[in-house]
Amino acid sequence: MPEGDSVWRAAAELHQALAGQTLTASDFRVPRFATLNLAGWTVEEVVPRGKHLLMRVVGPEERKLTIHSHLKMEGTWQVYLPGGRWRKPGFTARCVLRTAAADAVGFSLGILEVVRTADEDTIVGHLGPDLLGPDWDLAEAEQRIRAAPDVPIGVALLDQRNLAGIGNIYRCEACFLSGVHPATPVSAVHDLRTLMTDAKQLLEANLGPGRRVTILNPRGMPVGRMAGRPGYWVYRREHQPCLKCRTPIRRGVLGKPNGEEERDIYFCPQCQPVVS
Ligand SMILES: [Zn+2]
Repeated sequence: MPEGDSVWRAAAELHQALAGQTLTASDFRVPRFATLNLAGWTVEEVVPRGKHLLMRVVGPEERKLTIHSHLKMEGTWQVYLPGGRWRKPGFTARCVLRTAAADAVGFSLGILEVVRTADEDTIVGHLGPDLLGPDWDLAEAEQRIRAAPDVPIGVALLDQRNLAGIGNIYRCEACFLSGVHPATPVSAVHDLRTLMTDAKQLLEANLGPGRRVTILNPRGMPVGRMAGRPGYWVYRREHQPCLKCRTPIRRGVLGKPNGEEERDIYFCPQCQPVVS
């Protein structure tokens, strides 16, 4: 599952390359849209919405369509000079968009579909407030999470209907910063707003180039980008000492009550005691 910052960066790069440009060719390599040809259409904008990418295009008679993609686990969009050699195997390409200035190729996309722009709500209307969006609403996100008080906070944070943009890395890191074990029921998390605000700050700190880092200085700037320094407080640091108390970090598993979508969690048993 991608983190919201990856999708935000992908949208920014695609917008930079394509916005205002007319497509000279399009190639949708999924059966449902294999015959769709958007040559002559103009890319209006590319925007992220949670973990969804929305590429809005305008065609004849002001018709508006949205190319919707989701990166899921392996997906990526790459921008090349026209005719440039792809860095991923051709058979994994799902969408190719050409302009006079660039080729944009979506590889291994988890979702690729084209809908009327007026119908975007059917795709992203269920999403909670977007941590990286202009409409971020802390109170609304808190209300949505608190509506299910028995759900573990680590599960609630990944549920994009509550708030959009958090993946496994940021849920583990934000829970650590708040001293909250991810299995803690929502009802026992007292300062949910600080936890969400921390997650937002971590995402925002990683919108630029360079590797993802969640260790920030007091001004919110990443400090862990130097080689050999840990980039994360707990994520994938099993058995390594906690950076606050030296207790070995532990790994566990957390999923929905029905066993679906189990994902690894990482936590410090000392800094994040289990509360039930
Ligand atoms: Zn600790």
